[in-house]
Amino acid sequence: MLVKIFILFLGGMALIGLIGKWLFPGAIGRAVSKRIAVAKPSRCRACGRYLIGTGGCDCGKKG
Ligand SMILES: [Zn+2]
Repeated sequence: MLVKIFILFLGGMALIGLIGKWLFPGAIGRAVSKRIAVAKPSRCRACGRYLIGTGGCDCGKKG
């Protein structure tokens, strides 16, 4: 009885995964590309210097 429930649960999870893949085919790729974009050092659009952290460039800060 418990094994049956377990198999049903696994099947349901697999089905949800498949449906998610059908509904959002680019979601996983987008997440990975986003992570790569975060990992890459970003540059300031104004002065072209590499940005450290998420605070932005010094040239954009006043004072
Ligand atoms: Zn800058």
